[in-house]
Amino acid sequence: MSEPTPALLTQVAEGAWRIRLPLPWALASVNAFLFRRSDGWLLLDCGLHTPASLAALEEALAQLHLDWRSLRRIVVSHLHPDHAGAAAHIRRLSGAPIAMQPREAALIAPREPGEAFFARAEAYLRRHGVPEETIHEIEGEARKMASGSDRFVADDPIDEGDVLEYAGGRLETFQAPGHSPALLCFYDRDRKILYSTDAMLERISPNIGVHAFYEGNPLGEYFDSLAKLEALDIRTVVPSHGEPFSGHHEWIAATRAHHRRRCDSIEESVRVRALDAWTVAALIWGDRRPIGQRRLAMAEAIAHLEFLARSGRVRRDEVDGALLWQAI
Ligand SMILES: [Zn+2]
Repeated sequence: MSEPTPALLTQVAEGAWRIRLPLPWALASVNAFLFRRSDGWLLLDCGLHTPASLAALEEALAQLHLDWRSLRRIVVSHLHPDHAGAAAHIRRLSGAPIAMQPREAALIAPREPGEAFFARAEAYLRRHGVPEETIHEIEGEARKMASGSDRFVADDPIDEGDVLEYAGGRLETFQAPGHSPALLCFYDRDRKILYSTDAMLERISPNIGVHAFYEGNPLGEYFDSLAKLEALDIRTVVPSHGEPFSGHHEWIAATRAHHRRRCDSIEESVRVRALDAWTVAALIWGDRRPIGQRRLAMAEAIAHLEFLARSGRVRRDEVDGALLWQAI
């Protein structure tokens, strides 16, 4: 039996609606949110810049007897194309400003020159051991992916501590980096609802990876983010993919344990000899998956290796421009 098609529009709380927008990916949908204000509506996240996603969003607005001009502010949680992709297009249709955390906004701003971006991405792949022919395959995918997302300059900075007022209450802004450099979540303290965006997803562990444009220690940052969210009094987590869920303490404990186990198995994989991250990812996740998934697996492997290096459990050596990792 097939599952019933989930509704396009669902009310989350008084004055707050969830819109399920289609994605042409293995992950079939992303949630955007509408919050009613005294002067119009706030849109949280925008979906991809595709005709199917824009049509779904327009249909959801129509069901609430709204149109694009009803939107007063567009808030983008983080730079990934399923959240930010259509933002520039919706700004043109609505006239509403785009609010984004400045560090995330800088990463989505138009790239100059465009080819320098791909050169940096290529250098990152090469440094982590991706074979030349695979680099070209990944670059092809990245260019295709880039076409689902417009670049834009956000014109309305927003950051941790800012409060978004809406008819049903107020949303406190929290930064929860790890999945992206300065991802934002929104907390309705009165209703004990966390709009977790991609920081917490019920059945999926959010991708935590080192990318060409997110270096440093994302896994360490993610552990800090989880500690911060753990301290909040939350009855319902409303994520950007899938359905709302409760039990955030259990979810956080399980997710921490998942990453700790992964750290252990990755440390084991580099016990006998030094390996690059591409090879480690193939050992842990297999090498028969679609290329986009292998790239994300490598990004996850680097995030765990980087965390292990900072914890004194693995050593990082540069050999002929390539990074090799080995358990200490
Ligand atoms: Zn994301």
